[in-house]
Amino acid sequence: MKLRTALAPMFSMAALALPLDLHPVQAPPQSVFGYSDFGPEAKIEEKFLAVPDAKEAGEELKTLTAAPHMASTPEDHATAEYMARKFREAGLETEIVPYRVLLNQPKTVRVEAFDTAGHVLMSGPTREHVTGDPGQDDPRVVMPFNGSSASGDVTADAVYANYGRPEDFNELAAEHIDVRGKIVICRYGQNFRGVKVYLAEQHGAAGVLIYSDPQDDGYYKGDPWPTGPWRPDTGVQRGSVQYLFKYPGDPETPGVASTPDLPDAARSSAEGDQPHIPSIPISYHDAAPILQALKGPGVPAGWQGALPFRYHLGAGGVRVHLVSQQDYQRRIIWDVIGKVAGAEEPDSRVVVGNHRDAWVYGAVDPNSGTAAMLEAVHGVGALLKQGWRPKRTIIFCSWDAEEEGLIGSTEWVEQQARTLDHAVAYFNVDVAVSGPNFSASAVPSLKQFVREIARSVPSPAGGTVFDVWKAHHSTDDEHQGSNAPPMEGESVHVGDLGSGSDYTPFLQHAGVPSTDIESGGPYGVYHSTFDDFAWFTQNADPHFLYLQEMARVLGLEAVRMADCDVLPLDYVAYAKEISAYIQAAKRKATDMNLVSIDFDAAQSAAAHLLAAAQHIHAEQAAPAADPARLNLALRQAETALLSPAGLPNRAWYKHTIYAPGEYTGYSAVVIPGVNEAIDARNSAVAVQQLAALTEALDRAAGVLSSAR
Ligand SMILES: [Zn+2]
Repeated sequence: MKLRTALAPMFSMAALALPLDLHPVQAPPQSVFGYSDFGPEAKIEEKFLAVPDAKEAGEELKTLTAAPHMASTPEDHATAEYMARKFREAGLETEIVPYRVLLNQPKTVRVEAFDTAGHVLMSGPTREHVTGDPGQDDPRVVMPFNGSSASGDVTADAVYANYGRPEDFNELAAEHIDVRGKIVICRYGQNFRGVKVYLAEQHGAAGVLIYSDPQDDGYYKGDPWPTGPWRPDTGVQRGSVQYLFKYPGDPETPGVASTPDLPDAARSSAEGDQPHIPSIPISYHDAAPILQALKGPGVPAGWQGALPFRYHLGAGGVRVHLVSQQDYQRRIIWDVIGKVAGAEEPDSRVVVGNHRDAWVYGAVDPNSGTAAMLEAVHGVGALLKQGWRPKRTIIFCSWDAEEEGLIGSTEWVEQQARTLDHAVAYFNVDVAVSGPNFSASAVPSLKQFVREIARSVPSPAGGTVFDVWKAHHSTDDEHQGSNAPPMEGESVHVGDLGSGSDYTPFLQHAGVPSTDIESGGPYGVYHSTFDDFAWFTQNADPHFLYLQEMARVLGLEAVRMADCDVLPLDYVAYAKEISAYIQAAKRKATDMNLVSIDFDAAQSAAAHLLAAAQHIHAEQAAPAADPARLNLALRQAETALLSPAGLPNRAWYKHTIYAPGEYTGYSAVVIPGVNEAIDARNSAVAVQQLAALTEALDRAAGVLSSAR
């Protein structure tokens, strides 16, 4: 899944027309946080970096994207077998782990629109089609639909709701436009599509059409496929509308692994995270006649898209008939899990993951990540054949049914809850390559770690990944707009983890420190049939050099974390960020005149955490001969930040510092219990959530201090 906000391209692909022989050229770093002597590890890393191969990554991507492979289909199973074979060839102890989960597949999806005289304005959906796309006519291309959509047959007047954000629905209310019983048509972008449906449902709408406006990822941005990378007129963004901000995974088993033998009696109703109204994703080819015929007031500033007419809000002018018949069944999905046992601390686990299932071909999303992970496995396999064994266990995971709601990863995390107490980190990659611009998100304790990894990997554009990353983030706007305190020294912004990919169960349910990496570019075919191998080689990475780069970054994260003497988790950075979050929440509460909320206890708990972190940081820099106690404390500190009760109204989410926003879905809300209570002007809940946060910070400080 993963929302792509495409960045401007820094480097044209034409400039990279010649494949370069990219072996690591820069001298390895002399000292690395976490190692008392980096010399021997530098040699291992050099050997690792020499293995991931661009050409083989391209072959793997071609194989993975040869057919549509939506979760639980025979083609999805074939890709699982392929991954298992590749894992075994590399020497990984491999198993295919099935789960039985509730998934919908579309039986009937229909949209018709009529003007006030009853004349047909459109009848669709129109099949996705452009001149010359090689994969579009395969009968296995699933018709565009929303995962988790309710079934329904609804006829009602249409209302335009812009991006379907809280402020958009407020604006409609201010214009006295009632959406109750109406069909809301809104555009993709700005938030998770499930949030659009969630808000439409809360406001009493009868159904939702979600379309891709050319302003957001079509011709307004640049040439559409097959000329360029942007969305053509018939391209549709499929996707899940599961209320994943309530909980992700199998809708019937929150907190429980839906193994094939889990009895039906142990499964609950799917009510908790499923919409109750139908929704259908459509193209702008199909949305345009509806929007053009809408009457009512003209749209306010910021609501006009790029279609060539004035937009109106409705209601009136257009009656829409929407039919969505979904076939809900418990279906089998397949995770592929490959292990390399650690030689010294086999119970400590470094987990690497990427999802394999795609809405259609999924060349960028997710199989650029899959090819990168396979080449990382290739590199680890080569080290194994040379006699290397990692100090800690490394587990590579190929997740299934991520697109429907992070299902394969969530069920595995729920099943492995006990062994994940021993996980030191989770490294995710999803949309690995859509262009040349590297970026990363991480918990604060791993932000510097990711930067150091990026300094150790060459970029196809010359210099290191870090150099190129730094250059295209030359303005610090992105960082200043974030929640983090000012960056110190020579640095680059690392984002916060919200949701939309498989790190969510690891970090926000199990408390495993996580990172997510990608190399982005103009990408307008997200979740359409056109996200295929032909699009990838024309627009994203013609010589697969960025697949190679991402394989090196991902694999090096695992190798360095698995081998280190002392875990390089930086709790000083973490404590400083938490302090900044609390200060910002306090300012917000003051601005909103919520004067009864006392932040003092939380602020002093954050100060205690910082003091404990500074103490342990000094020990990490000069560790004792046996760092076992130190590592135990470092490993347990993130888990200590979980609140046993979970967040209000969404108890599955246990992390007190990060959660997906209830009204954003993808982007992170920090100290979520506190901030969402303030946003809702609920002082009582804010006070209670500050107490839970304070307890968590005290727990984490206690854990870090226990290493002494
Ligand atoms: Zn994805």
